[in-house]
Amino acid sequence: MSVVIPGSDIAKKRAEVESHREMHNSIRGLDRTFSTGAQFHWKIPPKEERDRVDKLMKDRDAKRAQQLAQAKAKHYKRTSFVWTSEKYPATEGPWDQPLISGFGLTSPCAVKPFGALFKRALDAGLTVQPNAGEEWRHGEPCFNILDAIEHGAKRIGHGIHALATPSTGLPDQVSIRLASYGVSSMAELMKREEVTVEVCLISNRMVESTQCERYGTEPLRAFVRAGVPVVLGSDHSGMWSDGEATNMHEQVALAVEMGLKRPEVAEIMVRSFELTRAVPEAVKPRLIQQARKWAQSSDPIQALPKADMHANLDGMIPLWWLKAQADAQGVKCPVPKEEDEAKWRDLDEFREVYDARTAIIRNAGLDSIPSQILAIAASCEQRHVRVLELSITPWGKHLDFFRMCSAGRTLAYERHGVFISFVVTVGCTLDALADGEKLLDSSIEFNRLWSSSLDAEIDEY
Ligand SMILES: [Zn+2]
Repeated sequence: MSVVIPGSDIAKKRAEVESHREMHNSIRGLDRTFSTGAQFHWKIPPKEERDRVDKLMKDRDAKRAQQLAQAKAKHYKRTSFVWTSEKYPATEGPWDQPLISGFGLTSPCAVKPFGALFKRALDAGLTVQPNAGEEWRHGEPCFNILDAIEHGAKRIGHGIHALATPSTGLPDQVSIRLASYGVSSMAELMKREEVTVEVCLISNRMVESTQCERYGTEPLRAFVRAGVPVVLGSDHSGMWSDGEATNMHEQVALAVEMGLKRPEVAEIMVRSFELTRAVPEAVKPRLIQQARKWAQSSDPIQALPKADMHANLDGMIPLWWLKAQADAQGVKCPVPKEEDEAKWRDLDEFREVYDARTAIIRNAGLDSIPSQILAIAASCEQRHVRVLELSITPWGKHLDFFRMCSAGRTLAYERHGVFISFVVTVGCTLDALADGEKLLDSSIEFNRLWSSSLDAEIDEY
């Protein structure tokens, strides 16, 4: 390589070539902008002409947006027939299952005012599964659990304080009501009425106010020993530890560590497979058989097919997804809490971090929902979680929100073999009752549209 002396002829020649190239590039750039109407930066045309071009561009953009929307809609509608995988055959997909399977309430909402709504939800075929009994709150959750059961709830989210007895703070009024059913604790009533408790082992440990060790032992072990039907859930697992979506693997390991026998753990999964509406009936026996086979084997936890039955869409989106979004939006990404660090004092403190997280997710827009669900489903597949019941609190137009969930559910099955159903959950706001009313209406409407559109689609084929 020759040395070029500054100011020499060669240097001048090079500079000339360089400027020529630059000009050439900018002309090519101009070419591009010219075709999009930006040529008027060069010569200001009369107003009519400007308006005409503006309108042309606007029309073109609108048309493009419309085409895109149509293509997307078509894609979502057809995706269930696009993928053929031997591992997760299309014939076994969740196409016949209602998208929305349950109706819930977040903690620490009072349950009683929702009685009428629960009834409507039950009439529409939804499972009523409110959170009740997460934080101790001076025995208040005991009232909520009993109210929920009396209003037809067959599942109780968290529900730790169903274990309360008079000696551990069960309020007298609740004791009296329980006595009229001939039982002395809610756990007893739940056993008899087959009301399932959704235990979130790790989540409960992360929030101090749950007082999950109040009854001298881990709630999971206590419920299993009391014969109360139990399922497990990750809850807001993106908020702690490695920020991974599902922590079912870790929870099963913890349950075994706590002294639960393999058949006991397997039966928790069996119970989940029986209960869930995410999985077609024809597929259930195989999952149940696999779980029971695992109980009798010494296979690793990975081999057990698992069900994550209490999980929250916003709360469990994995850290990598959230971080990418936060970077794109130029905001700080909330860091998950280490499990052995200090806990959150209560749900209010928890909510501060949670809200920052939710803001990022909202900003990502409704059409990012399928990718949120796929990110979660990928982590489920890694941990052999086959069933996921996701709590959602829709925002924006409900039907659009559900449509996106539906697309996500399709992709989650086809790519990762995860069966998903959604539990619409009313947030604990001042307008909770009115919100719940609207949410229930749109959920029923969507399930109806879903089953009728499926019929229409089948007719076409
Ligand atoms: Zn929860």
